[in-house]
Amino acid sequence: MAQTTPNHTQTVSGWAAHDSSGKISPFIFRRRENGINDVTIKVLYCGICHTDIHYAKNEWGITMYPVVPGHEITGVITKVGSNVKNFRVGDRVGVGFLAASCLECDLCKSSQENYCDNLQPTSNGVFWDGSITYGGFSEMIVADHRFVVHIPENLPMDAVAPLLCAGVTVFTPLKDGNMLQSPGKKLGVVGLGGLGHVAVKLGKAFGLHVTVISSSASKEKEARERLGADHFILSTDISQMQAGRKTLDFILDTVSAQHSLGPILELLQMNGTLSIVGAPEKPMDLPSFPLIFGKRTVKGSIIGGIKETQEMLDLCGKYNVTCDIEVVTPDQINDALDRLARNDVRYRFVVHMAGKSASL
Ligand SMILES: [Zn+2]
Ligand SMILES: [Zn+2]
Repeated sequence: MAQTTPNHTQTVSGWAAHDSSGKISPFIFRRRENGINDVTIKVLYCGICHTDIHYAKNEWGITMYPVVPGHEITGVITKVGSNVKNFRVGDRVGVGFLAASCLECDLCKSSQENYCDNLQPTSNGVFWDGSITYGGFSEMIVADHRFVVHIPENLPMDAVAPLLCAGVTVFTPLKDGNMLQSPGKKLGVVGLGGLGHVAVKLGKAFGLHVTVISSSASKEKEARERLGADHFILSTDISQMQAGRKTLDFILDTVSAQHSLGPILELLQMNGTLSIVGAPEKPMDLPSFPLIFGKRTVKGSIIGGIKETQEMLDLCGKYNVTCDIEVVTPDQINDALDRLARNDVRYRFVVHMAGKSASL
């Protein structure tokens, strides 16, 4: 991109991984000056996503060390560029996975910049000026205003942070599947983790009948009582899976562990859609018969565009939907990453960036 950005003159303290051990330690670096299209944000909170683990440990082989993770950022604007009309100093805002895109292709022009070939992430990406992007595990961030969203006034800045990635990841397929304006329709959510628990909350907010499908019997009480799910299917129980055959209109599969799609497809009614948002590393087993005999569709989805992210946040404000979180201080990031790798969190860690940190 032939866009120019001002020099990187601002010294910022943050937290970075320096090698494939993935261990996070304090890191001083520089960010660009606030350009005409930029806003500067004092970071208050940043959620921890599975992608942060992949980046920190170079599990996808694309990490540019030192890497400053974090793309579920909430904070307050401290500076606005001269071209910025829709944000003011003091505004409560969020930054998600997207830092930049080409702004010119058909996808960017139709607010689907999350599918732009030149999409650059907030962490471990390459910005328009050629600099490597450093994420939200830092005290401050400079972001192009076209990739910043407003946070509804009634939502707390900590519990809203994971909506910037986990929330929009499950919202977009629901919208795409016409599940937003269809109260009473039957939604299945496979897996009850960071993504799944938000999907259940959004589904209930939109008036859907929500069924949680999980391989863990202990999740039933949680799903029904804490999150308000209408129904629970234990995926390892053949009789429960049989009883659920052809009962659901749309299924969101959030599981990132290896599993077969066949039994899940059988739960869909004729013409139903299974949307994949989890990312198992190896190919998934996809038998043809449940597809053919039920005229069913399997599709995928990745995060959402900026317009969709704002729409999702506004709806979360309207229905008072936030994530269930555990807040940690920066010196607890390593422990949180270890626990997240074991799925030992209900349901998302959020780092309080100004939180008192014993080791600093
Ligand atoms: Zn993420
Ligand atoms: Zn584009």
